[in-house]
Amino acid sequence: MANGLTRLQAREAIRDTCGEGWLPLVDEVFENLPPHISITCAFQKWGALRFDLDPRNDTAFTDYLDEVAERSLEICEACGAPGLEMIIDSWVVTRCDLHSAGWVWRSDQPDSEAQAVAISGAQVGNV
Ligand SMILES: [Zn+2]
Repeated sequence: MANGLTRLQAREAIRDTCGEGWLPLVDEVFENLPPHISITCAFQKWGALRFDLDPRNDTAFTDYLDEVAERSLEICEACGAPGLEMIIDSWVVTRCDLHSAGWVWRSDQPDSEAQAVAISGAQVGNV
């Protein structure tokens, strides 16, 4: 359980990759972090806020993180306004209307043609 991220490091990782919108969720997770668990990585995956843990076998806490990830799917990662899942520059992201310039697919407008383009253009790198 050594070598976990500090809250500050986790906040910086998310701010550098996503923006300011999920920082309250990062704070909340650290406030609920059990003392025997370290967070080894904080990242965005498929438009959701995710964490890697050491150890990973605390189901109550991993269930809680799943619930945080679900909530993050409705919060703009850039600014914290209400957001929705969409694809921009081949990345699945969660953004508000203000931060969604250039979207090719968004979950409230599942136009089939745009969706096909988005899926074929989505990169394997978004893992
Ligand atoms: Zn926004």
